[in-house]
Amino acid sequence: IKIKITNIDIPVAFASAFEGEIIRRKDMQVEFDGSRVDCAELVHTCDASEIEDHKITVIGPEVDEMEFGSKNSIAYVVKVAGKNMQSDFEPVIERKFHNYINCIEGVYHTGQRDMQRIRISIDAFNAGFRIKHIGEVLYASVKNEFDAVVDKCEVVIYTDPAECTRIRHEVAIPIFDKRDERLDTLTDESVDVYYSCILCQAFAPSHVCVVTPERLGLCGAVSWLDAKATHQLDPAGPCQIITKERPIDENLGSYEDVDEAVQKFSQGALEHVTLYSIMQDPMTSCGCFECICGIEPFSNGVVIANREYAGMTPLGMTFPEMASMTGGGVQTPGFMGHGKHFISSKKFMKAEGGIERIVWMPKELKEFVADRLNKTAKELYGIDNFTDMIGDETIAEDPETLVAFLTEKGHPALGLDPMM
Ligand code: SF4
Ligand code: ZN
Repeated sequence: IKIKITNIDIPVAFASAFEGEIIRRKDMQVEFDGSRVDCAELVHTCDASEIEDHKITVIGPEVDEMEFGSKNSIAYVVKVAGKNMQSDFEPVIERKFHNYINCIEGVYHTGQRDMQRIRISIDAFNAGFRIKHIGEVLYASVKNEFDAVVDKCEVVIYTDPAECTRIRHEVAIPIFDKRDERLDTLTDESVDVYYSCILCQAFAPSHVCVVTPERLGLCGAVSWLDAKATHQLDPAGPCQIITKERPIDENLGSYEDVDEAVQKFSQGALEHVTLYSIMQDPMTSCGCFECICGIEPFSNGVVIANREYAGMTPLGMTFPEMASMTGGGVQTPGFMGHGKHFISSKKFMKAEGGIERIVWMPKELKEFVADRLNKTAKELYGIDNFTDMIGDETIAEDPETLVAFLTEKGHPALGLDPMM
């Protein structure tokens, strides 16, 4: 830990001791929630002439003007410039916002990209903490930690809902999409190394993500390219090279190298981790997974729920109920946290047959992944419009109705071997 900030100008404490602090609803002044309203967090590389160093701007209401206990929009754009800055470093800096904001006493942050959630406690508010102080923290932390690449930094924070909608949809999402597209040509077989990520050990001490080109970190924010950039920026940091020279079982995605790495980075808590199975030694989950998949025994398939989905699944569990069985950095065969983009990967549950096991997803998620998922299903199995065979909450919220629907559609999972 090389954070060397001594004097950030905020009215509450700032220290890694506060990183694991949780703000409960009854203790919160206001919250910001990207799963319900438009939010975004973004690092944007600019020309040095466009940036006024240490300028912090808030566009929209301050916490004082927000209703007590309310859910609000927030979008912050951290503009950076530096002659060694590369756009590959942007997502790496962005992912650290989670740690920076969590180090503020009385402030809590989860999620990333356009799905972050922040709570400000009543105590922090009463101590004088305001939106602009988030800007102070981001400015000081980015300048401190990334001084090798960031020479100038300016922060613009939007709380005006219309501006947040504009930043999210017109600025942030196109950038996120472009980043994701860069990965499309890479496969696990085409690279020589994978990367570990242990950024989430503050919350889940034994959690290790193994990040490969076809399997991004379960938070959805750390791709193989991001992990590579993280390693370049900080060779002793959270992302380390994992070689893949000693495969044990290519179908499971198990390697002696991977096992050794997870043993080391989990301080012995984990022994074996496979990359492509949810039944045999699945990867652990921390708490910030974008989605959870869990086995649905009546159809031999899996149900996937995303964090934004507030309803019921055919497993008889909501997302929070599934999350309570899955998180904490332990292996739970049959349940696994993962990123949204992993759903259309050829490596998704490859050991159990792959994406043809997917029998149910919330409608919104299904629409989000449809193009990519249909393309993968066509390539792997020759199935057209695979998503039309997958149930959602408008079709079924219980296993009987779901199986009837799958039978009618001739869903391939029904003909596969049971998973347990
Ligand atoms: Fe890293 Fe995994 Fe946490 Fe994402 S979920 S920050 S990849 S440890
Ligand atoms: Zn996490």
